[in-house]
Amino acid sequence: MFSDKIVQNLSKSSWIRAMFEEGEKLRKIYGADKVYDFSLGNPDSEPPLAVLNSIAKHAGVVSNGIHKYMPNAGYNDVREKIAFYVNEETGVNFTASNIVMTCGAAGGLNTVLKAILNPSDEVIVLAPFFVEYLSYIDNHGGIGVIVPPNPPTFQPNSTILEKYITPKTKAIIINSPNNPTGVIYNEASLEAINEVISKKEKEFGIQIYIISDEPYTRIVYDGVKVSSIPVIFKNAIIVNSYSKSLALPGERIGYVAASPNIEGIELLISAITYCNRVLGYVNAPSLFQKVVADTHNESVDVDSYKARRDKLYGNLIKLGFECVKPDGAFYLFVKSPIPDDIEFKNVAMKYNILVVPGTGFGCSGYFRLAYCVNMSVIDNSLPAFKKLAKGFFN
Ligand code: PLP
Repeated sequence: MFSDKIVQNLSKSSWIRAMFEEGEKLRKIYGADKVYDFSLGNPDSEPPLAVLNSIAKHAGVVSNGIHKYMPNAGYNDVREKIAFYVNEETGVNFTASNIVMTCGAAGGLNTVLKAILNPSDEVIVLAPFFVEYLSYIDNHGGIGVIVPPNPPTFQPNSTILEKYITPKTKAIIINSPNNPTGVIYNEASLEAINEVISKKEKEFGIQIYIISDEPYTRIVYDGVKVSSIPVIFKNAIIVNSYSKSLALPGERIGYVAASPNIEGIELLISAITYCNRVLGYVNAPSLFQKVVADTHNESVDVDSYKARRDKLYGNLIKLGFECVKPDGAFYLFVKSPIPDDIEFKNVAMKYNILVVPGTGFGCSGYFRLAYCVNMSVIDNSLPAFKKLAKGFFN
């Protein structure tokens, strides 16, 4: 009756949603302030004032044509502005012709994968990874190949990665700052990956794209540098969104920026633009294209995320938990005190603490906490974490 594949995928990809639904049940029983829900990466903050002002400015104009169809890649003036910003950020010469406005990073990743994949092409993902990648790859006939995690730093390891590159490898998805670890991939790790890619491209006579999923590049702490991917990798395709940097996840707005250095870039952009149309998005939401073109350089309050990171991380370490200190994004990826992270998630739930098992991100033995919640949730959760820790560390 239904697609067998989709029914299978439904059961695989539902950890985060499943935990959120558990949270809803617990909130009804104990009250919202007694439930410490760290399951969902849904920013608790509102968009910056400049974004709200820009929405009012564009929405309030009569007959500005903003509700009409437009070129499928997006408004030309918007693409020009985004190219200017990407240019500044990467140091590589992007023009409007390298940009496609998309329905968030999810829409961008799907259009890129649809544009580049032939049936059974392989796409490498580095564990732990954003869980939807495997579904997106599967959507377009590709095969997701998982490189195992590299704890405790979670920096990608090029020697391990090399073993997973085959003549069928079409792309590698990287995500830094990373969901779920918050780790920023350092320049040395990325340079080493580039060397391995160049070697394998020559050996197999193939072209491997680096798809850089970058929704967290604005949420970075302590001045840590996020490397420019198109400077390091020739075949770089940036996928970005404003879901986290401007707290606009419900508005579905982002972009693809494909490097001018890619061989056949014009055809690639035409293919991505075509896919934007035939996947059913047709074009990115018009009002929000205009808004992000005005406000690209605005940001949610990163200091407030840093304060939350410091409080939660500092307290968990004091209690005996082990966790890499995140340099960006708004997640902690903590080692489970017992090998079975799903069992640990059940134990945490007894104290009304909701976590997502690492298994959901291709990395068992860990759990993820999304700290994009109000500081009061963190403050109120600390006694519960203390009780939880007592069962394992004393
Ligand atoms: N990529 C990563 C790593 C994410 O964490 C998310 C959302 O949480 C997405 C992509 C999807 O983002 P968007 O809302 O822009 O589609």
